[in-house]
Amino acid sequence: NAPLPNEDPLIFGNPSNATPDIANENNYLMPKPQYTISYNRSKATPNWVAWRLDSTWIGSTPRQDDYRPDTSLPAGWYQVLDTDYSGSGYDRGHMCPSGDRTNSIPNNSATFLMTNFVPQLSANNQGPWEEFETYCRSLANQGNELYIFDGPSGNIGTIAQGHVVVPAVTWKVVIVLPNGSDDVHRVTRATRAFGIIVPNQPPLDINTPWRNFRVTVDAVEYLTGYDFFTAIPKNTQELIERKRDRE
Ligand code: MN
Ligand code: MN
Repeated sequence: NAPLPNEDPLIFGNPSNATPDIANENNYLMPKPQYTISYNRSKATPNWVAWRLDSTWIGSTPRQDDYRPDTSLPAGWYQVLDTDYSGSGYDRGHMCPSGDRTNSIPNNSATFLMTNFVPQLSANNQGPWEEFETYCRSLANQGNELYIFDGPSGNIGTIAQGHVVVPAVTWKVVIVLPNGSDDVHRVTRATRAFGIIVPNQPPLDINTPWRNFRVTVDAVEYLTGYDFFTAIPKNTQELIERKRDRE
C-alpha cells in the first residue's frame, strides 16, 4: 500500500535515509497510505513521521480512538500496546495528527496505530503542539499544501517497563506551498519553511503560543542530525533552511 506518487510525503527527501530493511532496525522505513515512518526498534517510537497535508485530507470523520498495536512491524519486534502509556503520566502523542486525516474512517483510524505515537507531556501535546497542528490545518484550508515531518529527540527516561523512550523535546518541520503540481521544482528562496522545538518536560505552560518555539529548519537539522529537503537544489535549500519565519 505505497502512497500514490502525488501523495508521497518523501518527495523532498528521506531525512535519515531510512530503508525497509529489517536489519536497519533503528531507521526502519514504514510507508503507509496516510503517512510514512522511520521507526526506531530500540526506542519503540518513530524517529520521524512524514505526511502531506492539503484540504482534501480534511473532512468530517470523527476521531476513531482505536489505539492499537501496529501488526505490520517485523516479526519479533516489540509492538507497543494501547495500554502501555496508561498511568505513565504521558499522553499518547500523535505524530501524524488525527485531525489531519479526517476524510475517511480508514484514514483517520490509521493515525491510531501505536507506531505513530511518542510519550508527550500533556502541556506539550495539548498546548503549543496542538495549537501548531491547528495552525497547519488552517494553512491547508486556505489553499496550501504542506509537507510535514515530526518526531522525538533526546531521552529522559522510559515507560512501559522500559520499552518506550520518553523524549526531551518534540520537533516539527514544515514546508508550505500554494496548491499546485511539481512541488519540488517550484520551491524558491521565498518558499516558507520552518520548524518548532517544544520541551517535553516541565516547566512548560500549556498556554504558551507555538510561535514561542519557532525555529529555522537548520535548528532542527542540528538537533536531530537529519537533513531535510535534500531534493531541493543546494543553494535554495540552504537559503530556506536558515531563513527565520516571521508570519
Ligand atoms: Mn496530540
Ligand atoms: Mn537540508
